[in-house]
Amino acid sequence: MLIVQKYGGTSVANVDRIMAVAERVVKTAKAGNKVVVVVSAMAGETDKLINLAHQISPNPSEREMDLLLSSGERVTSALTAIAIEGMGQKAMAFTGRQMGIITDTVHTRAKIERITGERAKKVLDEGYIVVVAGFQGITEGRDDVTTLGRGGSDLSAVAIALALDADVCEIYTDVDGVYTTDPNIVPEARKLEKISYEEMLELASLGAKVLQTRSVEFAMKYEVPVVVRSSFNDNPGTLVTKEDEDMEKVVVSGVAYDKNQAKITVMAVPDRPGIAAKLFKDIADADIVVDMIVQNVSGDGKATDISFTVPKTDSRKTLKLTEEIAKELNAKGVTLREDIAKISVVGVGMRTHSGVAAKMFSTLAGHGINIIMISTSEVKVSCVIDAKYTELAVRVLHDAFELEKGK
Ligand code: ADP
Ligand code: ASP
Ligand code: MG
Repeated sequence: MLIVQKYGGTSVANVDRIMAVAERVVKTAKAGNKVVVVVSAMAGETDKLINLAHQISPNPSEREMDLLLSSGERVTSALTAIAIEGMGQKAMAFTGRQMGIITDTVHTRAKIERITGERAKKVLDEGYIVVVAGFQGITEGRDDVTTLGRGGSDLSAVAIALALDADVCEIYTDVDGVYTTDPNIVPEARKLEKISYEEMLELASLGAKVLQTRSVEFAMKYEVPVVVRSSFNDNPGTLVTKEDEDMEKVVVSGVAYDKNQAKITVMAVPDRPGIAAKLFKDIADADIVVDMIVQNVSGDGKATDISFTVPKTDSRKTLKLTEEIAKELNAKGVTLREDIAKISVVGVGMRTHSGVAAKMFSTLAGHGINIIMISTSEVKVSCVIDAKYTELAVRVLHDAFELEKGK
């Protein structure tokens, strides 16, 4: 078998952890498999590098940020290869560039366009274990270093698994699978044996960071089999795969939360056609992804308040831009609120069931949690709440939908 194994930040956090990873890799190879390893930077390293840049400039260039951030994964890839060699197995480390990971030119959140990987394929056939620095690629022609967005080593692994036609892509992390909600918040959360790409995509995009959203999108599109496992034990993990008959037929399958949310309100904009179009076009042109939008017409019908959410990491940039647009539109002002979180209940079974939203609202109300914004789709209901109630909300919703019990 050809197996891609990706190890996240906590799995390569220090020398002892890297040795443990190397042991697992060597064991997998000795069992007769070809192994390609993809590593993240040591836990906390990417944040540390971002912080360093921000001490120097409030607005560092994205091209240079990518070069800076890609260094964390270089370190762990080389150290992991050294550790494997130390155990008597041939290994070779590759940066994104050496692996031929070609991306578009959107710095800090580039998309992978293709992977050439000729050299890696050759040495793999010669019996080497290939270790790849995750999270990075290079642009076509100019060879600028790009990164794939936070958590992007998951995407590196899935894309490499596809490019090399691997039998499975194993994602090793600090939990032993995908749970009905974050097991670090709800100890009663239940591990899922299998989850469909679609449900995993919903959970990930609503904040369950166990897999990066784009990696799930990619795996779903090309049907790459993904298994989430722990690098700390040998427990069986969770298989992420196509929806099938024996998957659990439940209405709600999980609860997700996202603290990386900020709410911007434009107050008293004139209520006439074209206002929202202007506001959201300018924001989209700045590459900012808007999530929820709520518009309220005031009592006299002449003005409206528009509120929307963006990732907290984009909040300052969005605020500045929105203030400029608000001036042009003669709005009364703009406010920013960052102490919010989005809580979501997810399940493809919701398509054919009613009452999920009502139960969610009454559960939150029953615990004195105020709902600031709501959005729904056929497979999820999301509420924005005060961030300080995040853990409480996750717990009471997990309990109300009896997720610890299973089918
Ligand atoms: P890595 O550094 O290995 O990429 P991450 O921190 O990105 O790991 O993702 C693993 C974390 O995802 C877990 O520690 C857990 O707190 C969190 N998580 C959130 N939702 C879930 C869920 N539904 N199932 C499992 N883990 C979850
Ligand atoms: N090191 C990067 C991050 O922290 C990528 C990853 O860990 O997947 O976002
Ligand atoms: Mg991650």
